[in-house]
Order: sequence, then C-alpha cells, then structure tokens
Amino acid sequence: MTTEIRTSQEAMELEDRYGAHNYHPLPVVLSRGEGVYVWDVEGKRYFDFLSAYSAVNQGHCHPRIIGALKEQAETLTLTSRAFYNDVLGVYEKYVTEYFGFEKVLPMNTGAEAVETAIKICRKWGYEKRSVPEAQAKIVVAEGNFHGRTTTIISFSNDEDARKNFGPYTPGFIKVPYNNIEALKKVLQEEDNVVGFLVEPIQGEAGVFTPADTYIREVAALCHENGVLFIADEIQTGIARTGSLLAVCGNCSCENKCERQPEHYTKPDILILGKALSGGVYPVSAVLTDNLIMDVIKPGQHGSTFGGNPLACKVAMAALEVVYDEGLMQNARRLGNIFRERMEQLIGKTNLVKLVRGKGMLNAVVINDSPQSSTAWDICVALKEAGLLAKPTHGNIIRFAPPLVMTEEQLHECCDIIEKTILNFKR
Ligand SMILES: *Cc1c(COP(=O)(O)O)cnc(C)c1O
Repeated sequence: MTTEIRTSQEAMELEDRYGAHNYHPLPVVLSRGEGVYVWDVEGKRYFDFLSAYSAVNQGHCHPRIIGALKEQAETLTLTSRAFYNDVLGVYEKYVTEYFGFEKVLPMNTGAEAVETAIKICRKWGYEKRSVPEAQAKIVVAEGNFHGRTTTIISFSNDEDARKNFGPYTPGFIKVPYNNIEALKKVLQEEDNVVGFLVEPIQGEAGVFTPADTYIREVAALCHENGVLFIADEIQTGIARTGSLLAVCGNCSCENKCERQPEHYTKPDILILGKALSGGVYPVSAVLTDNLIMDVIKPGQHGSTFGGNPLACKVAMAALEVVYDEGLMQNARRLGNIFRERMEQLIGKTNLVKLVRGKGMLNAVVINDSPQSSTAWDICVALKEAGLLAKPTHGNIIRFAPPLVMTEEQLHECCDIIEKTILNFKR
C-alpha cells in the first residue's frame, strides 16, 4: 500500500527514514511545476532559481515536450539497440545537424556521457595516435565537476566526492582552471596525453567564468599538440549562458547557429545532458566527428536505455523549444539585467561580495567564510520569501532560473533577493 503525502513534514520524514542520505536538500517539498514556478505540498508558490541544475532551461512541464513524451509513451518506449527503431535515426540526424557534428552517441545521464567521452578519447589515442597500451592520459581542470562514477570522482578535488571511494582510476592529470600556461606546460612535459576535458564555465565549483579567450586558447593548444579538446557542456549548454553553447562565446546568431569562427570554438568532443530533455527524462549525448567516433565498433560500448525512442522524441521537442522561444536571446538579455541588479545590491550591503556568470548562469559570493552557514541561511530566507536557490561550495549561491522567464518576473525576483538580503541578520 502506498502512503499519500498530505504535508511537507510527512514527505521529509519518509525520505529521511527510507532514503540514502546522499543529499542535503533545502526543507521544501515540491509537488507541481509550471514554467518558472514550482509549488510545495501546502500550495505555496516559488520561483525556481536552480532549474534542477540547469536541466529545466525550457521551464517546468513544457507542454510541447510533455506532449512529445505522452505521444511516444503510448507508441513505443524501448527496444534496446539490439534492434533498430524508427525514431533514433531521425533524432541522430536532427541533433548532429543542430550542433554541427557528424556523429552522436546517445546515453542517459550526464556522468554516463562523460564516461563515454573518456572511453572514446582513450581509444582514439591508442588507435589513431599509437599511444602505448594503458598509457593514455587525460588532462582535467582543478575544481571540476563531471559526475559521480568511480572514474569521474577519481579526478575530482572534492573530498566529499572522493574520500573512501578508492582505489581511483589512474590516467588523469589536473591543471589549474583558467590557466593556459599550466595547460601548455603539461602538454609539453607529459607523454601520451590524449585529451583535455573541461567545463567552459565551472558550474558546481561556483560558476567560475574563465577569461573570454580561455576556451579559444585551449582549443588551439589542444590542436597544436594533437590532443582532443573535450567540452563538458552538460550544465552550460543549450542556451543557459546566452548562446547555444558556452563555447559559442558571445554568439549573435539569432535564429540558427551559424558557427562563425570569430566566436565559435568547436570542441573535438561535445558532451550534453540535462536540458537536452528539458528536464523531462534522462537524455545525454556525446557528439563528435567521424574520424573520432569511428573508433567505436559494435559491442564496444552501449547502454540499454541509450537512444530509446522516448528519449529521442523528448530531446527533439526540447531542442525545438530552444529556438522557437528564443531562449538564447532571453538568457543573454535577462542575464545582463540580473547582474546589473546584483551590482546595485552589492553597493547597498557588505553581505554580498561579487556577482559573476554569463547569460542566466550566475552566482553571488557571500562575504563570509566558506565554512559559515550564511549562504545556506540566506537560501532558507529566500525560500520563505518564495524563491528557491541552493548554495554551492560554502559561501556561493547559484542563481539559474528557467530561461522562459520574463523581464517583469526577473525584476520581481531581484526585488525578493534584494529585500531578503538587506533584511538578513547573521
Ligand atoms: C550535472 C553535471 C554532470 C553530471 O550529470 P548527471 O546527469 O548528474 O550524471 C556532469 N558534468 C557537468 C558539468 C554537470 O553539471
């Protein structure tokens, strides 16, 4: 028999009692979502400023995406890749043309797509670069977040994510983020480096936004040294930062991505997840060109659910919404307003130190030690005021609402943030 939830308290008690304690959620229990809003069990409405870590860029329960889900769910959900299905090829053509790559390998979660990219990169190193067996190295950035598998946490700096999960997967070298000289040095000094895996903006680490030239220089260095530039755009991609991808830089393509070389840096391997489904279903993808993807032959990699027809239909609908509703342009415009409003707030209080970010992926840094609970307490106060955000790494609060927000709603949200912070007592 199932229990019916009547109060938020009941739901929290159930999770606490029966679920693994691998998260520390804000004390709010959500039961419904629409666009930029979510509602709790008691019916209180909130602005969602996390968007499920940028999975819900298209807004909660977007009718077009849900429509695609419902229609396909009644037709065919899963065949496995033991057989062809009549949606996968259509999706593969759509998604490769959409992002400008020759091939896609479909997976489900972000971490799986990162694992897939690592495997492709290593195999490419052995087969196309003649790296000696088991010697391939991949360079990663300090402060990275790429997911939670055993291999991925092996090269994390986050002690919570790593400790007591060893032995760790070897073959990774860390360099400081946003430091071209460090990358150059490691590429010169180390043998058998096959790839550099990096987030164009480090989201989990606290929205660390590198120099405008960083990604372009990374790509150039990788190409000079014959190593693959692997961009993890699971959080930054799909309109979040005001362009289709964060590697597009200050993209001004309004209707269809034109990929002009003056602003677009094409990665050798692109990793997507999260908003690829608009938060409706776990869909991730690894995109690359034929010369790289052809190292993967039948039987060498796969996933039961990867590329299922339901995922494919959902992803196509989610990607259509991005262009049809101008989410890139909206993210760029609203992002400028948000940072301007936060700059004004910084002038009125010493509780907020700085605001940084791009498009609608932003963070404010609270003026207190990373060990203090100030950012958490502010998020609890924001929750009381009807706005949901989550601290990341101590004293940083990330603000990343769905990209379907209107300017009027954004100002209302900035008013809430301003009022809450100005009234906040440590
Ligand atoms: C969320 C995220 C991942 C992991 O995705 P999951 O779907 O949680 O496995 C990987 N990389 C980045 C940059 C992310 O933000």
